Amino acid sequence: MIIANNTRPSCGGQQLVRYSAAGVILALAKKGLDVRCVDLIPDRGGRPSDMPVKNSADVCCYAVFFGNKVNAFRHMIGARRRKKAPRLIIAFGPFASAFPKEILSRGLADIVVSHDPEFVIPALLQEGGGVISWGTIPNLSYMQGKKIIHTRKHNFHDLDEIPFIGPHLYSRGHRPAFIMAARGCRHHCIFCDRNALWGGGVRNRSVANVLSEIRELVEGHHVKAFEFLDEDLAADHQRLVAICEGMRRIKGEFYWSCSACVGSVNQETLLLMGRCGCREIYFGVESASPQVLRRMGKTYACKEIINAVRWAQEAGLKVAVMIMIGTPGEGNLDRELTLSALHEIGTEVNVRVNRLVILPGTALYRKGLREGWFSQESFFEDEGLIFYDGKR
Ligand code: SF4
Repeated sequence: MIIANNTRPSCGGQQLVRYSAAGVILALAKKGLDVRCVDLIPDRGGRPSDMPVKNSADVCCYAVFFGNKVNAFRHMIGARRRKKAPRLIIAFGPFASAFPKEILSRGLADIVVSHDPEFVIPALLQEGGGVISWGTIPNLSYMQGKKIIHTRKHNFHDLDEIPFIGPHLYSRGHRPAFIMAARGCRHHCIFCDRNALWGGGVRNRSVANVLSEIRELVEGHHVKAFEFLDEDLAADHQRLVAICEGMRRIKGEFYWSCSACVGSVNQETLLLMGRCGCREIYFGVESASPQVLRRMGKTYACKEIINAVRWAQEAGLKVAVMIMIGTPGEGNLDRELTLSALHEIGTEVNVRVNRLVILPGTALYRKGLREGWFSQESFFEDEGLIFYDGKR
């Protein structure tokens, strides 16, 4: 069994896919399967690794996302052409789950897993690696003759069952350590693929389980800094307070960072976070124009942005804000409103600017398909990156 994942260090997808892939590796190892993990990172000269030549695994699983799809597909083709081809090729991850038909009909993989691969892939492989009936397993797509079968969708709720991933990745040299306390987001921004990626809704790990993982990192691996990968750590105040209070009881000095929605934080929780080791917070602000925010599905206004940044700074946190340009209907006045808000929050804030990219599985992607801006095939051409054209 082999798991291949990952490449470019330029987007959150990297960590998310690593997170999912690491969960699959650990879950399969727990079942007694012999698992090897290969990073599809090109070497310094940009050449892909030579995994297809050396790969003799009977089952190959590929975490496929935007940044690694070209390399992942090349490896899948290489595995198929081996003298003794693997009996099963499985694709999962955000890109694979958005394009099961295209991946299956090209013969790249035998099975595409839409989400929760840590539960689904182990269910596919019995002890010793035998395949049981696929039709009974949720979140799968596969070919039966010329027909594509999609099995029922299911969100696995007991995330505490996933082995601790933070310590595993940290001990393999991944820095900083990162953990994910919940999966999913309660918001529905038109450009964001997190709901498609995690199957919709928010699923929490138990507070006790999250704290056990942090304790293992800090007390067992002497980790000094880690990052929460949650989309919005402050979404549930009661839960955040319980995690913060629990962290105070962990022995050792450590710091952490997280992302939160400006509409989710308040002064009290930010102060508590600052007292409990939070050093940096990222806000996905995107714009300060009410029209742009409304069009993107955001539920906060400029006042919340200014307050969130001010409170976080008063709590002693470093603040980074993400701004998005080239959004639907954005004009000069909208950009001026955003610039004026940035001016108000001051120069201490780290501002990161991104151009709007259309991601599969999002509302913007569905609109683009309906209106003929691109086709699904466009995402398979070269890098397949499609930027939103602000005029549409
Ligand atoms: S709040 Fe953030 S994570 Fe949630 S849907 Fe919007 S952009 Fe995505």
